[in-house]
Amino acid sequence: MQTSGRSRKNLIILMVIIFGLMLLIAGRVGWVQIVKGEEYGEMALEQQTKDTPIEADRGIIYDRKGEVLARSVNCYTVYVAPPEIGKNLPKAKKQAAIKKTADELAKVLDKDPEEILESLSSGATQVKIAKEVDKDTADKIRECELAGITISADTKRSYPNGSMASCVLGIVSDDGVGQSGIELKYNKYLKGTSGRWVDYTDSNGKKLSYSPSNQKYYKAVDGYSVVTTLDEVVQSYAESALTDAMKKTKCDRAFAIVMDPETGDILAMAQKPDFDPNDPYEPASKSEKKKFASLSTSEQTEYLSKMWRNFMINDTYEPGSVFKLLTTSMALEEDVTSMSSTYNCVGFLTVAGQQIHCWHEEGHGTQTLKQAVGNSCNPVFMTLATKIGIKKFYDYLDNFGITGETGIDFASEGRAILQDEEEAGPVGLATIGFGQGVAVTPIQLITAVCSLGNEGHLMKPRLVKEIKDADGNVVEEMDTEIMRQTVSEETADEMKEIMEFVVSDGGGKAAGVEGYRVGAKTGTANKAVRGGYSKDTYSSCLGMAPMSDPKLAVLVIIDSPKGVKYGSVTAAPAVGTILNKTLKYMNITPDGKEMTKTEEKVVVPNVVGKSVKDAKKALKKKDLKADMDENVKDENFTVVKQYPSAGSKVKEGTKVYLYNE
Ligand SMILES: [Zn+2]
Repeated sequence: MQTSGRSRKNLIILMVIIFGLMLLIAGRVGWVQIVKGEEYGEMALEQQTKDTPIEADRGIIYDRKGEVLARSVNCYTVYVAPPEIGKNLPKAKKQAAIKKTADELAKVLDKDPEEILESLSSGATQVKIAKEVDKDTADKIRECELAGITISADTKRSYPNGSMASCVLGIVSDDGVGQSGIELKYNKYLKGTSGRWVDYTDSNGKKLSYSPSNQKYYKAVDGYSVVTTLDEVVQSYAESALTDAMKKTKCDRAFAIVMDPETGDILAMAQKPDFDPNDPYEPASKSEKKKFASLSTSEQTEYLSKMWRNFMINDTYEPGSVFKLLTTSMALEEDVTSMSSTYNCVGFLTVAGQQIHCWHEEGHGTQTLKQAVGNSCNPVFMTLATKIGIKKFYDYLDNFGITGETGIDFASEGRAILQDEEEAGPVGLATIGFGQGVAVTPIQLITAVCSLGNEGHLMKPRLVKEIKDADGNVVEEMDTEIMRQTVSEETADEMKEIMEFVVSDGGGKAAGVEGYRVGAKTGTANKAVRGGYSKDTYSSCLGMAPMSDPKLAVLVIIDSPKGVKYGSVTAAPAVGTILNKTLKYMNITPDGKEMTKTEEKVVVPNVVGKSVKDAKKALKKKDLKADMDENVKDENFTVVKQYPSAGSKVKEGTKVYLYNE
């Protein structure tokens, strides 16, 4: 009771003090507030306060291991008020003072003194001389002790790795608002809340001497940090593999996604040509810069918008034969085929009275399901799609997420281009069965195929795993999410076996990694253009490893390679390189057979320049087999390229691919 009585007494004393203070303040402000009231209130406040916003620090973007991908750094803007320079001096001396200011600023800022002098002489009352200046430079200017200089602090977004992962990170506007990528999608977390510094001033706009009653400070709340699923190291592997592929294939663009099939985490996502978000208004690479400079203004605008878009999420492409993996898994699940089924390809199949050719016009002859995928034999997939039927086929496309969106945490996800279920007809169904007449987003395809490496569980792909506050405490966790079961675990396991066969015995050899069981499928599809198909292709390869328990899926797409177009030559080596480096970096235990040193090896002869007939003879002599990739229509050609190349040491019985372009 006593305590409570004392509390009440204290409270009363406090209230008396507050009341007394209020009276005092009211007395000072006096009659203006009471007599003139609202009439002058707003006007007076505007005159007598200086309201300075205090910007919040934008949050950091991290990779999954805590490496900084984007951060805000302090920088400074330098203003000069020319009327303040040599204020009380005669005109001639004032002019000399302005020139001296220009010279000194030019020296510190490493700028042209004439240019600065010109802007100082423009008659403006205040001129912005430099922005985004670092602290050292700002301090040097302060040391010059020049009249009329104001230096204001600002923040600037900085991307320490330059162009790395720019298609994922995105860019911010000059005032620090996310415009694309993670910067846009997670802007509400990153931006923070700005504070204010309200400073009451006298009627001349001069600061009053400091006292608690005439200054109010609202602290800025810094933005949250975003921890992405990207791994800076894997990202660098993907980027360098694409740079190599660009050089080798002379393609227009190249793309790569590295995904964890078990979680849906995107470990890397790369796109070339790319830009440096520190300076996003031109391409990052020297050669592209040259190309860009030669374009017209409207072409440059188009170039930039294409470069800033994330193709892998926002756009669609023709997946070609990689799509056959989905058809095969549907057929296995629906029991319209099995691992022991055999098919006979005579080079074409007649569907609803229309003859549709296999890419290998001579026909693949008798083959098992596994071999049909390895050979990428079109008639087999036409047969399978027809047996599945349009209704079920489209139901599975729903299941695989091809008809909808994957739900990845990124703005403006694209949608697949599919023929209407009602209008596709038997020919439409047969052709989509082997991957023609369909366009998907790269993220859709890799997500769908990843379910085959994950016991049939389709994961929601994600780019961000958690949100942290400025002290590093986790404030929100983005859970991994199983969207659906696409096919049964049994079917998924059979698909893994089939994909592995494509690498060991089919067209996906270049995606292989010694010591690991790797699965893959390649594709080469002509790009759809208005009213038909272009000669340009999307050549791609989707690989997975280790097949005993897949931890990595890699999709590489080469847009319009010049010369050899096949995905097995243009994209598969990049998949192999990324898998090889990443498997080792992640310390994933090898699950494949070690190549024994005693194994017989033969040296591949040079068959470039020979006719196919002679090349076959030369290879046979060395116990090697000749083969051709998809899309070779006529086998009477002169070999212009071979894989593996002449001089390579390979096992007896290895297939050597012959290319006609
Ligand atoms: Zn065939």
